[in-house]
Amino acid sequence: MIVYKFGGASVATAEAIKNVSQIILNEKTNLVVVISAMGKMTNKFEELVNAYLTNSINTFNILSEIKTYHQDIINKLFTSKNEVNLKLNNKFTEIENILNIKPSNNFDLEYDKLVCFGEIISTIIVSEYLNKIKIKNLWIDIRNSIITDNFYRDGRIIWEITEKNIQNNFELTSANILITQGFIASSQEGNSITLGREGSDFTASIIAYCLNAESVTIWKDVEGILNADPRIFQNTVKIDTLNYKETVELAYYGAQVIHPKTIKPLQNKNITLFVKSFIFPEKAGTIINNVKNLNILKPIIILKDNQTLISISPKDFSFIDELNISKIFNVLSTLKIKVNLMENSAVSFSIVVDSSDKITKIIENLKSTYSIKYNTNLKLITIRHYNQETISELTLNKTILVEQKTRYTARYVIQNTNNNLINELYNADAIAV
Ligand code: ASP
Ligand code: MG
Repeated sequence: MIVYKFGGASVATAEAIKNVSQIILNEKTNLVVVISAMGKMTNKFEELVNAYLTNSINTFNILSEIKTYHQDIINKLFTSKNEVNLKLNNKFTEIENILNIKPSNNFDLEYDKLVCFGEIISTIIVSEYLNKIKIKNLWIDIRNSIITDNFYRDGRIIWEITEKNIQNNFELTSANILITQGFIASSQEGNSITLGREGSDFTASIIAYCLNAESVTIWKDVEGILNADPRIFQNTVKIDTLNYKETVELAYYGAQVIHPKTIKPLQNKNITLFVKSFIFPEKAGTIINNVKNLNILKPIIILKDNQTLISISPKDFSFIDELNISKIFNVLSTLKIKVNLMENSAVSFSIVVDSSDKITKIIENLKSTYSIKYNTNLKLITIRHYNQETISELTLNKTILVEQKTRYTARYVIQNTNNNLINELYNADAIAV
């Protein structure tokens, strides 16, 4: 049994869906296919949620855009559309029923209730298209199998229940191909829950783990995992082989190739992960397994833009000790802030986080005890398996605010060149530098 995962880009148009069907056809047996919402539909559903919760007059216009996008694809894929339209109309009625009642004030709950339809709709269309071209398959609602806690928008898997459910519901007897959704799940009470943006990779890995799959293939619009983002860097090279450990490191540092939670379940059962191109499916892609010695030919570069460096110093001139650090982290974890880099000296603790409106909340929470300086519009560069040449290339003529080097990893927080402006003062307790 193997698991394929197709992301939004691979099913964004009628042509793309035909291509995916061809890839499925080439495999044909004992296959579980996990599919995301089409194209940028999850963003559209997010717009819909915002409109619905703010009681915007645009709410139903956004729903129409969603309908039109899918209808357009259906018109290109099907001559007789009765079956697929009947199924989709039921789903759109469910959405309308939600939109016609007053939302609760729990944003995340309402979000999960609506956003999950992106995946439900995309899988119905692909499954029906496969039926049309005589590829027998079974459509499965993953929400009856993957069960999480009530943590809306970032559900945490309840593994024992999920494993039993998947083993019961994913029997490959009636069809050799099962089609299901990524990213979505359900709480024990039966409410829809999402697993965090880009969570479909993780879904594929959960299913593979529960079914002891031979392998998972994540189909992407790039050749495999590259040593840097080809949209930003020239002369990127594909990495042929990685191991679980290195891949987790890359995901942790912010490489966007694979959702970070994907690796652990696969590693636990030693399930091979392939990252391949849906444009050139015959090419080898990247293989991720438990190989010990990696042959990394070029440094791997991970760039995170839009970073803020916050330096926190106790006002009473006490040292940055365990007590201070735990106070600071308490605030960060309550605000659900991910720290991308940290560094401390005797009297100051610095963190680098993604820029967002949460920064002011951090300051609000800490300013009575700490003086805070911050610096926005920065870049965080991580170089795995660095060499001096790459470091020089990336940091030449740049103002380096933080530098950290370990045996395999060099990290730099640098100022964007056109950003030497002094940022506005937030208040007397927080000085932007
Ligand atoms: N459709 C979801 C998203 O866009 C999940 C995924 O693509 O993995 O975030
Ligand atoms: Mg996606």
